Amino acid sequence: MTAQFDINQVYQQFPALQQNCNGQPLVYLDSAATAQKPLVVIETIQQYYSGHNANVHRGSHSLTASATAKFEQARQTVQQFIHAQHSCEIIWTRGATEALNLIAQTYARQTLQPGDEILVSELEHHANIVPWQIVAEQTGANVVKIPMLPDCTLDMDAFHQLLTNKTKIVAIAHITNVTGTRNPIEAITTAAHHYNAVVVVDGAQGIVHEAVDVQKLDADFYVFSGHKLYAPAGIGVLYGKKALLEAMPPWHGGGKMVEKVSFSGTTFSALPGKFEAGTPNVAGSLALATAIEWLESLDRHGAEKHIAQLRQKAIEGISEIDDLRIIGLQEHASIFSFVVDGVHHQDIATLLDQQGIALRAGHHCAHPMLDALGLTGTLRVSLALYNTEQDVERFIAALHKACSLL
Ligand SMILES: *Cc1c(COP(=O)(O)O)cnc(C)c1O
Repeated sequence: MTAQFDINQVYQQFPALQQNCNGQPLVYLDSAATAQKPLVVIETIQQYYSGHNANVHRGSHSLTASATAKFEQARQTVQQFIHAQHSCEIIWTRGATEALNLIAQTYARQTLQPGDEILVSELEHHANIVPWQIVAEQTGANVVKIPMLPDCTLDMDAFHQLLTNKTKIVAIAHITNVTGTRNPIEAITTAAHHYNAVVVVDGAQGIVHEAVDVQKLDADFYVFSGHKLYAPAGIGVLYGKKALLEAMPPWHGGGKMVEKVSFSGTTFSALPGKFEAGTPNVAGSLALATAIEWLESLDRHGAEKHIAQLRQKAIEGISEIDDLRIIGLQEHASIFSFVVDGVHHQDIATLLDQQGIALRAGHHCAHPMLDALGLTGTLRVSLALYNTEQDVERFIAALHKACSLL
């Protein structure tokens, strides 16, 4: 039985939140850029380097054996967390970006023929656009945009019309980072599989706010970063269906990804080693597993309810501001974007920062989406389970003050 979600108890576990920023207690509303880390995650890194540091899958001493066991246990923790069928379907990467580039440069580069199509939604982060443009250039395939509707949801009618026998890959975010739009992944995989296209799901935001079951979603690939999930930066996950991963050529060459090397030819390791050349970020993997265990020890339903209440309060509190527009407001999203007509987003962000409020201003690495909205940037509030009612009250007051000064 998990205890009921207790915000005070959770808040206390985040040392970075207990600091002042410009002379005021920090209000951190930028968790979609990167989340703060609970003490248990920080301690995992410290303990690893204090007592367990050794290279993995190499050597024969006890320290390396124990580090290897922990490293593989962490892989299983991720496997169970996303309900993958096999632990070898979990490939460690540096993050979502690296995972998407890996898929583009192995699966896509080997498979795509001139004239083939990669459908990419207009709501994507640059990390889920640019790797496809690069591989399209290399193979003669074309990147085709799936447009969004004015309410910042995906145009599913257009998607169905764009799907043809030329479609080989569909690249789509689970939850987007500008408006928190949730894309209907199951409907997308069902339709795409009808045309034998594979679906690459960018889960950088989705993993944080959904209980992910990759088998239920029927995602061919699902990627995410540790640092948005309360774990450190520099560690991330590529999930792929085993049959696909097995058929893919390796990407980086080096140690551990090979079975046997000679100058007459090299044979590659089995999964997951084939995609993990070089010494991995062992501390990062262990810390990601700790973050997952910590999340699972919480009442996640209670946490989501808590975030939903904060969001409601924030939106109500800022809606009265003259000329303030919330962009593509999505139900149940922990993220929302807004602009104040006639005032530059960066000016507001600066005035908020002076009052200790950290949020994101800019294009959020999603130029095509902002172009479609006719905007150069927005202010983005992203809530995490450690935010408090007081954070939201301070944000509302600070925004009222900023707007009255501009
Ligand atoms: C943050 C983010 C990425 C990129 O993640 P990195 O950790 O920078 O690799 C990709 N997609 C979305 C939706 C994101 O929010």
